[in-house]
Amino acid sequence: MINLVLFGKPGSGKGTQGEFLKSKYQLFHISTGDLFRHHISNQTALGKLAQSYIDKGDLVPDQLTIDMLKDSVENNPEAKGFIFDGFPRTTKQAKALDDFLNEKSMHISATLALEADDDVLVDRLINRGKISGRTDDQDEKKIRNRFEEYNNKTAPLRDFYSAQGKFHSVNGIGSIEEITQRLTLLIDGLL
Ligand code: ADP
Repeated sequence: MINLVLFGKPGSGKGTQGEFLKSKYQLFHISTGDLFRHHISNQTALGKLAQSYIDKGDLVPDQLTIDMLKDSVENNPEAKGFIFDGFPRTTKQAKALDDFLNEKSMHISATLALEADDDVLVDRLINRGKISGRTDDQDEKKIRNRFEEYNNKTAPLRDFYSAQGKFHSVNGIGSIEEITQRLTLLIDGLL
């Protein structure tokens, strides 16, 4: 079983690459951002709660996110492995994920970090916002706030996964295909 964490700032390409890796390695792709957006469009209680945070570019509180993630794993017992995209985003989430996977005799195989400069990312997100209509992608202030959240709460996970020998940096600048190739080279080396 192979379980991957896709790591990187908003706009770094986690979703795009996750979709590709999912079919190439037959993994189940869980994007917490997509799950929240699904709850929001269905107006569930969780969606209503999450929306206020997402609209400001803040992270959704840990426990809500952890519970939603666990449900998604539990609901897919047949999966050959998982791609965690946008999760974990805090040390508390990373510890909860390790504990949860341990209980199931599972573990994270590798954390793959897509690296790109903030200015490139802002351009990508503004473009994405125009196409998708995502409101959190349409306002540079909200985008910069998401980077702040990343720097404060998510960046420390580099050390967390490096200490486990699982952290791999990947250059996230280039064509989608080039980046896919960098990722597959790394993953094939793990298999
Ligand atoms: P991006 O990585 O481009 O910001 P996502 O679609 O992954 O976009 O996430 C959108 C928003 O959903 C985040 O800004 C955050 O508010 C919320 N979110 C997603 N994943 C998490 C998480 N693991 N913990 C807390 N909030 C999250």
